[in-house]
Amino acid sequence: MSAASFGGRTAIVTGAAGGIGNAIAGAFAAQGATVVIADLDGRAAERSAQQLAATGADVRGFATDVSDSRQVHSLTEFATSLRGSVDILVNNAAITTTEIIEDIDESAWRRVLDVNLTGPFLCAKAVLPQMRRQRYGKIVNIASVAAKRISFNSGASYTASKAGLVAFTRHLAYEAAPDGINVNAVCPGPVLTPMMESVSDSTALAQRRNEIPAGRISVPDDQAGVVLFLASDAASMVHGQAVDVDGGALLGWTDTASYFVRRGAPR
Ligand code: NAD
Repeated sequence: MSAASFGGRTAIVTGAAGGIGNAIAGAFAAQGATVVIADLDGRAAERSAQQLAATGADVRGFATDVSDSRQVHSLTEFATSLRGSVDILVNNAAITTTEIIEDIDESAWRRVLDVNLTGPFLCAKAVLPQMRRQRYGKIVNIASVAAKRISFNSGASYTASKAGLVAFTRHLAYEAAPDGINVNAVCPGPVLTPMMESVSDSTALAQRRNEIPAGRISVPDDQAGVVLFLASDAASMVHGQAVDVDGGALLGWTDTASYFVRRGAPR
C-alpha cells in the first residue's frame, strides 16, 4: 500500500477516540483517507481528531452513540457532507460486562448487545444505500477471538455479541457483495490498550503472553494493519471472513481457575 492508498476515500471509524480504533483511524489518515472518528465521548473524539489533524491529515471528530439510529443517521450525513460519500466503515465501538452470568444485570446485557451488535447493524444500514449506488464500499467489523471460543477478560454478554457480529458479518457480506461491497471482520486476541492494562496486573499480562505462540501481546497497530488490508483493493475477493489477529492464541488456551477468580467467584 502506498502513502495515498486511500486518497479520496472517506472512512468512518466508530469508538476511535482511543485504543484500537484510534490506531485504525490514524492508519487510514496516514494513507490519505478523510477520517471521521465517531465516539460516544465526543470531547475525546474531537481531541483525537485534532491530534491526528496536526500531522496534516483530514480527520474529524463526531459525537455518536452507535446504538441510536438517529445519531447514526446524523453521523452518516456529516461524513457524507465532507467529500460526497462514505467509502469505508469500521465498526469498532464496543463495551462489556465482566461478571459471571448470574450476576449480569438484564439491562447491562441488553446494553452490550445494543452497542456491540445493533450498533454495527445500524451503521451498516445507514451507509449501505450509498455504497450500493457507487458500487464500492468496505465494511470491517471488529469482533474478537471471543466470538470463536469465550472471552477471558469479559463476560458472556460480550462473547455473545461478538459471535453475533461474526454471523452478521457473514450475512451482510453475502447481501452486499453483488454491489461491489466487501464486508469482513477482524478478531483481535488480547491487545495492549489502556483498557486492557487497567484490568490486568503484570502477572495477568505475563500469563496472557505465555498463551500466545508468537510470544507477545499484540498492539493496536497490529490490528490496524489487517483492517487496512481488508479495506484495500488487494482484498477485493475476500468476503465474509473473520480473521484472527491473535499471535496464534486461539490455537490453544485454557485456564479455568483464573477465569473464575477474575469474576470474584473462585472455585
Ligand atoms: P476501548 O474501550 O479502548 O475503546 C472503545 C471505544 O468505544 C471508546 O472510545 C468508547 O468511548 C467507545 N464507545 C463505547 N460505547 C460507544 C457507543 N455506544 N457509541 C460509540 N462509541 C462508543 O476498546 P479497545 O480495547 O480499543 O477495543 C476496540 C475494539 O476491539 C472493540 O470492538 C473490542 O471489543 C475489540 N477487542 C479488543 C481487545 C483488547 O484486548 N483490547 C480484544 C479483542 C477485541
